[in-house]
Amino acid sequence: MTTSPRVDVVVIGAGISGLFAARSLARSGVTVRCFEARERVGGRLHSVEIGRNGIDLGATWFWPDEVLVESVARDLGLAVFPQYLEGDALFEAGAPGPQRIQGNPIDVPSSRFTWGAQSMAGRLADELPLGSLSLGDPVNALRVDDAGVEVETASGTTSASQVIVAIPPALAAESISFSPVLPDALAETCRRTQVWMANTVKVVAIYAEPFWRRAGLAGAAVSYRGPFREIHDHSGPEGSPAALFGFAGAAYFDGQEPGLIGEAFLDQLVRLFGRDAANPETLHVADWSRERQTTPKTPSPMASTETYGHPLFQLPFLERLHWASTETAPAFAGHIEGALEAGMRAARNAGRAAKGVLPPAPH
Ligand SMILES: Cc1cc2nc3c(=O)[nH]c(=O)nc-3n(C[C@H](O)[C@H](O)[C@H](O)COP(=O)(O)OP(=O)(O)OC[C@H]3O[C@@H](n4cnc5c(N)ncnc54)[C@H](O)[C@@H]3O)c2cc1C
Repeated sequence: MTTSPRVDVVVIGAGISGLFAARSLARSGVTVRCFEARERVGGRLHSVEIGRNGIDLGATWFWPDEVLVESVARDLGLAVFPQYLEGDALFEAGAPGPQRIQGNPIDVPSSRFTWGAQSMAGRLADELPLGSLSLGDPVNALRVDDAGVEVETASGTTSASQVIVAIPPALAAESISFSPVLPDALAETCRRTQVWMANTVKVVAIYAEPFWRRAGLAGAAVSYRGPFREIHDHSGPEGSPAALFGFAGAAYFDGQEPGLIGEAFLDQLVRLFGRDAANPETLHVADWSRERQTTPKTPSPMASTETYGHPLFQLPFLERLHWASTETAPAFAGHIEGALEAGMRAARNAGRAAKGVLPPAPH
């Protein structure tokens, strides 16, 4: 166990919200230390490299009104490309089989990251001062008093003037011991704030070519038969790598092995798109309900999206603890855009309180 030098601001979590906050503060001359539980950055931005491109097991898209994502991507020099929309969609309600719908009412115009959404987190992390990011070092406890904040992680203790909690509030309430304890109303609001997409399984199948496009299909499907309720084309720019992805509710699989989940996905793809779908080159399964650094072990049965952007998350607790994470954003909560907005707000409040510095808004 070590005691690290005091910094102005500690950031808990190197998801996109925490990294954006940390980078904004560091750029303004505020000293930061960011602790991340996983051995990688990005949190719910999680991409797998396929050749020179990336496919996404977490977030994929951003939409035309999400100006902060666009400006940060541009600032970081990230290549983006449009979601493939052309061709007909499929709809499946039950026997005798899928219906072909003329055109594609399922996908809307959106953009994707050529190297995968996680590349945004990777670039932000690369811009942090050397030694300011600790991976595989979960925060277990936070003590706030008149002198400042003491942050206890797996490897040691760090003190700071301010702290930004950039993890989903429900996870913070479950996994971090707060001293003093959070007031009842705040603790209950945290527990009731559902972690966005935590109940989701996402599977990506990579193929040698986008065979569905040859048949005039968009690769988009909605299914009431399931288990995957939505399917989308997930190919890279110009169709390479060729890929389809699906979303299913995690409760359906109830913790089944990834291999079995992958098989269920392929069975459904064959039903929808024919035999060509049977033999992907690779299959990637993410069950976000099983990711303990995203989803609480015992989520509240009352958890919902109603508390997203709650006023209590906009106020610093004891004038030292600032909430970030997408769930705390008053606008675009759940999305990357909301995570960036929340990180920006927390960085401005923490920077001002620690050093009288206001990190500039990027747009
Ligand atoms: C399957 C899926 C699909 C999605 N699709 C889209 C999409 O297409 N478009 C879109 O805009 N959004 C999408 N989202 C949502 C998007 O991914 C999130 O809004 C965004 O990534 C949240 O970022 P965040 O920094 O707020 O939280 P997170 O990404 O959850 O980051 C929190 C970080 O804190 C770390 N952590 C947790 N506990 C601790 C601890 N005790 N100590 C230290 N570190 C800790 C975690 O490991 C993680 O890295 C999707 C999400 C999923 C899961």
